[in-house]
Amino acid sequence: MNTPEEPTFRESVDIMYNRAVALMDLSPGLEEKIRVCNATYTVRFGVRLRGELKTFTGYRSVHSEHMEPVKGGIRYATGVNQDEVEALAALMTYKCALVEAPFGGSKGGLCIDPREYDENELELITRRFAYELIKRDLINPSQNVPAPDMGTGEREMAWIADQYKRMNTTDINGTACVTGKPTNAGGIQGRTEATGRGVQYALQEFFRDADGVKKAGMSGTLDGKSVVVQGLGNVGYHAAKFLSEEDGCKIVGIIERDGALTDPNGLDVDAIRHWIAGHGGVATYPGATYVEDGASVLELDCDILIPAALEGVINRTNAGRVTAPLIIEAANGPVTAGADEILRGKGTVIIPDMYANAGGVTVSYFEWVKNLSHIRFGRMQRRQEEARHQLIIDELERLSSDSGIGWELSPNFKTKYLRGAGELELVRSGLDDTMRTAYQSMASVWHERGDVDDLRTAAYLVAISKVADSYRAKGL
Ligand code: GLU
Repeated sequence: MNTPEEPTFRESVDIMYNRAVALMDLSPGLEEKIRVCNATYTVRFGVRLRGELKTFTGYRSVHSEHMEPVKGGIRYATGVNQDEVEALAALMTYKCALVEAPFGGSKGGLCIDPREYDENELELITRRFAYELIKRDLINPSQNVPAPDMGTGEREMAWIADQYKRMNTTDINGTACVTGKPTNAGGIQGRTEATGRGVQYALQEFFRDADGVKKAGMSGTLDGKSVVVQGLGNVGYHAAKFLSEEDGCKIVGIIERDGALTDPNGLDVDAIRHWIAGHGGVATYPGATYVEDGASVLELDCDILIPAALEGVINRTNAGRVTAPLIIEAANGPVTAGADEILRGKGTVIIPDMYANAGGVTVSYFEWVKNLSHIRFGRMQRRQEEARHQLIIDELERLSSDSGIGWELSPNFKTKYLRGAGELELVRSGLDDTMRTAYQSMASVWHERGDVDDLRTAAYLVAISKVADSYRAKGL
């Protein structure tokens, strides 16, 4: 994919950054300070597996420490390399700034195909990797807080948290050293679905922006829109599920490792996810048309394209053939800088990664706060809220009967109104608010500045100016 005219992922991020700073009034020194990655630590460690010593290579990159802790996932994939973690760490800085999560940007990775190891082996490897990072404060509740990413999930986060606590037995905030943990190990409800949920909220907000919808040459609401999703992992699955079940979207294409499935009448997302779990792929799925060349389905006629897998999948070679008027980058870096230029030329609207997939880190922020406050959200208020609502209902019913009007509140209304918000409702409400506010800050730059003609540049402008303000406040 990295042909001479196709920049690497990190170069792509730099190109996009440069496009934005060219429109800003930053001093050259500050411009450079924000662009560069502060540090990248490479570790090589051995683990004895199946009677042999196996060496693994891992990274933790810290892009910007204008706010601490720094934050970002740890991915397990064979393609992990320094260039990639640095690009991803930079995106984390901008992502956190854009959604006002008070963190600097970081990212980690381990070169490994997790499918080649069983659970016990993965635990050994994860604990050893975590040990190397913890002893250098590259995992620490006040300095560097990882989270899940591609190839990792709550199981790995639970091992990391436990490893940290074994090595820091008196740290009362130890649980906050990593987010994305299972709920029974200090996690928060709604974290697993958060990135996909954030994609849904982002699209809902986009369709409330009449000017944005017009710029994409679209009309109406999400209802009835056709969607192609690449990757039915955690992010793609939840986005597709919520959009089809709650917003009336039709999922007309799902692209996986071994090919794609299409159906103009809409695919059954849960059935396909289930099939993949049992059969290792989509090729034999009986209920849809199978397309062996999965990547060609990125070019399928649809309203919304959701790349939710790898970086660089929309590049110079296929961008010209992508027909969707709206792309939402659920993955990090799925559109190369070259493809971005081609798509912008065609008028395609791209909702950029740093915003589109920020739901994950947003709910990570809530989890971190929950861990530091040592109390579940809603625990103090929920029943009090219910009691106050009950007072209003009782009074309304008394007035209605005393006055002889005889109104009756519907049981459905009463149940909904009486229910105080628990953790999941509060997490979703905080996420929705975050996604709406961040969209509006980007969209106002997009619509109001004559020199900004795309959402990505707008997102960079908002994010960079927030990072710059923090550095200036520190006197840099
Ligand atoms: N790995 C996710 C991302 O790329 C989540 C990071 C986090 O929650 O810290 O945004």
